[in-house]
Amino acid sequence: MKLTDLNRHGGVGASCFYVQLGELHLVIDCGLHPKKTGRGAMPDFAPLRGVTLDLIIITHCHLDHIGSLPVLLRDQPRAPVIMTQPSHMLIERMLHNSASVMERQRAEDNIPDYPLFTHAEIERHAGRFTPLAYGHAKKFRGAHDDLEIIFHQAGHVAGAAGVELRHGGRRYFFTGDVQFEAQRTCPAARFPVDHFDLLVTETTRGDTERPAGKERAQEVARLVETINQTIQRGGSMLIPTFALGRMQEILSIVHDARRFGRLVDCPIYASGLGVDLCDYYDDIARQTKQVEFSRQILKDLKVHHLPRKLVPGRLPSEGALYVVSSGMVVERTPSYMVAAALAGQARHTLGFVGYCDPDTPGGQLLAAKLGEPFLFHKIDIKTSLKARIERFELSGHADRDELVDFAVHCRPRVIFLNHGDPPARAWMAQTLGARLPKARIVDPVPLHRYQV
Ligand SMILES: [Zn+2]
Ligand SMILES: [Zn+2]
Repeated sequence: MKLTDLNRHGGVGASCFYVQLGELHLVIDCGLHPKKTGRGAMPDFAPLRGVTLDLIIITHCHLDHIGSLPVLLRDQPRAPVIMTQPSHMLIERMLHNSASVMERQRAEDNIPDYPLFTHAEIERHAGRFTPLAYGHAKKFRGAHDDLEIIFHQAGHVAGAAGVELRHGGRRYFFTGDVQFEAQRTCPAARFPVDHFDLLVTETTRGDTERPAGKERAQEVARLVETINQTIQRGGSMLIPTFALGRMQEILSIVHDARRFGRLVDCPIYASGLGVDLCDYYDDIARQTKQVEFSRQILKDLKVHHLPRKLVPGRLPSEGALYVVSSGMVVERTPSYMVAAALAGQARHTLGFVGYCDPDTPGGQLLAAKLGEPFLFHKIDIKTSLKARIERFELSGHADRDELVDFAVHCRPRVIFLNHGDPPARAWMAQTLGARLPKARIVDPVPLHRYQV
């Protein structure tokens, strides 16, 4: 196998691997960098020039895994795109939303490259999106070679898959984004306990040690308690979430608390795409039974749509809970507007429940100290940071020790690190090196072709 990481900036970045297996040419994931803008946010497709891809595989529908797909499809008019059934239900909605956001950014932020693709292009390519059930070995025949693909349940979000490839008597495994622990809406990952020649593992939380006493159930209780305390002292609480996955998870947790009488009465706001995806989660739950969610949750909680146009510094309601995207508080998103309105007053709380790139406003808020000045520069709001900032260990990503344990079970000859900031990759490389002294551990240099 030859493997090239096309994620040009490293870090979590824009997931995209070019895989050459015998006579077959594959791409696994084709993301967009969550922080960068313009064409520089895409993977570097230079190694694919002149290559006709046989197949494209998608692990799940977060934009850091699919956000550049229509651009790649433009140059690869024949390759089918394989994904799980829930991903097949979500992918067009996610891409259309991305195109709409880019259209807005083109005008607001003066990014002439945007949109990178159009709504019409998404529709043109949609016929190539092909669902494949979990656990089903699918034989793929190219002109001169063939391989088998098996998707394994990866937890994380609806439709997330670890990808097993079998070719020429060898077996390869790509974790994609994975959560080994069951969440409220998603079951735990079910990865095979087996030998693989190569393992490509995500490393998102490689730099995060879960403190003792922060097990999921305790963190859920602490989250609910924090919401209650904030509302009772007259404040509002922001929980920035990804629209896909984290928002449905948090709304389910809040709904449980309300049902069991543990949540104070307060208005709850959620933002557009996330509310829409609640309907998709409901459909996925009914049709595939692979997540647990019902659109009734929105009705029971009387969830209000956060208006798209907000006056900087003003919110529609005091003493409210805001479960809004983006999870990383990226500029001009609903969570950015809400954070800007809440950050300057001590009665409010900003509660983070997932990964934030350190260069995003979310990452900067997590790193900032109380009383420091904080600038929301896109809307010209400068505050001194007074709101309570909390982090809850409710991630959709596996703990680092679980990732290491899985790698040890696989007994791979070669491990590639993926989807993690440099300190996360460094911890994983060191720990895996100690646990698997015979394995070759590679933190890939972007665009370098490795022979495995
Ligand atoms: Zn993801
Ligand atoms: Zn990801």
